[in-house]
Amino acid sequence: MEEFVAAHVEKIRPIMKETNLAYWDAATTGSPEAYDRLADLELKIRKIYNNAKDFALLTSMKESGHVKDSLMTRQLDVLYNAYLKEQVDPDLLKRIVDLSTEAEEKFSTFRGTFEGRKITDNEIREILKTETNSEKREKAWQAAKQVGPVVAAQLVQLVKLRNQAARKVGFDNYHTLSLAVTEQNVKEIDRIFAELGELTDKPFAKLKADLDRILAVTYGVDVNEMMPWHYHDPFFQEAPLVYDLDLDVYYTNRDVKELAARFYASIGLPVESILDRSDLYEREGKNPHAFCINMDRRGDVRILCNLANNDRWMDTILHELGHAVYDKYLDADVPYLLRKPAHSFTTEAVAMFFGRLTRNAAWLHDMLELSAEQRTRIEQSCERYACMQQLIFVRWVLVMYNFEKQLYANPDQDLDSLWWDMVEKYQYVQKPHRRAEPDWAAKIHLTCSPCYYHNYMLGELLASQLHHHIVRNVLRLESDNDLSYVGQEKVGDYLRENVFEAGAVYHWNDMIENATGEPLTPGYFVAQFVE
Ligand SMILES: [Zn+2]
Repeated sequence: MEEFVAAHVEKIRPIMKETNLAYWDAATTGSPEAYDRLADLELKIRKIYNNAKDFALLTSMKESGHVKDSLMTRQLDVLYNAYLKEQVDPDLLKRIVDLSTEAEEKFSTFRGTFEGRKITDNEIREILKTETNSEKREKAWQAAKQVGPVVAAQLVQLVKLRNQAARKVGFDNYHTLSLAVTEQNVKEIDRIFAELGELTDKPFAKLKADLDRILAVTYGVDVNEMMPWHYHDPFFQEAPLVYDLDLDVYYTNRDVKELAARFYASIGLPVESILDRSDLYEREGKNPHAFCINMDRRGDVRILCNLANNDRWMDTILHELGHAVYDKYLDADVPYLLRKPAHSFTTEAVAMFFGRLTRNAAWLHDMLELSAEQRTRIEQSCERYACMQQLIFVRWVLVMYNFEKQLYANPDQDLDSLWWDMVEKYQYVQKPHRRAEPDWAAKIHLTCSPCYYHNYMLGELLASQLHHHIVRNVLRLESDNDLSYVGQEKVGDYLRENVFEAGAVYHWNDMIENATGEPLTPGYFVAQFVE
């Protein structure tokens, strides 16, 4: 095992670094050469993990139980899962890659039709945010769903091919395999989501009724006539903007980069070295979104942003720097294969933990030197929006998780009805009369990031669990009233020592238990946002 690990790391380490560099080049310049180089390197990595002989060796070592050292066992698990995921025969893999590339392309080029002309996603979103005429809203919503029938058949075929690959390595379907290779089991995730569903059902029903009353007045319709197009985005996954909250005004003449740097320094997690290597401002040809990347697991951590001085980018830079401090403070003595976050959702949790501060009135007050009067004015709306956003998001993720699970369990069932059953059950949004379209297929994640969506929710749960633990046990406070986190070095110390440095040395749930005293639970999220 020691020999295998040493040889593997020697092989994979330089390629990973080169891949990250290619990714960075591609994202910062948009250069086609960089994209080509990236695709070649990704294929090279795939071929390493596709090796059946190596996988057989890992399997026999795992089954023998002879590897006893705990760090070695963890590395064996991590390697076994990485190989397991890639044990697909080359022909089948090629069909899957071709089909998903084709479907992804359709998503990026397709434009819906609205009042006889092609319309962009941004235009649809703008209409759903501002238009008060119900008929126009309905047409915009339908335009957002028109990509569904264009990709639905391909997506079903893709699901079947993914399932075929999963069955070859002994799993029921691809959903089960996907969770297993990221050390999650379906029963455990089911249990968490069932609990979350139960705890949020009544509060959500109430919130939705209040929201419907306000929105119905805006559109001049009866509250019973509220339809899917009456919310502010095509899937009702975001909080409609019905209460006054404009935080952008507080960021004019401010520098979100400087604010973020000052905040992280104040909690003992300085980020200068990260910001120095990062690419922060908009430029022609550059990726318009944001991400964090750990180039070499040796401290070269960078973020990409397109900063503007407003609320959205304050949230984003805090979020990306949350990922970045996790990567930066991974313990350099931990073996290379374990020198990464415990799980993709644990780094998401840390990023969310920090991004949420933009909805914390005490934080805004301390960082932006607001007056007491300004603070009072935004306090209530901030809290109301944070709660509303989280509650709406939970119910939406329940739709995605349960639909996707059943999609992979039986792709031949009536998926159009299944989708609307889920939407009605979890979101209380009524299916339009006689609607029979593959509306589920319009959600790009089902095609492009399969079986991943639930991790966003797990990230939110952990962010709340960490928050609760820090408030009660690290800062020893009775409640989080007035807690801005600004200047609290104990917070940085706690996260570094208990979450970041451990990397993937422990299974994610063991890390959480070590860090907070209990495994992942929805209780603290519910206490923070629902009760
Ligand atoms: Zn993130």
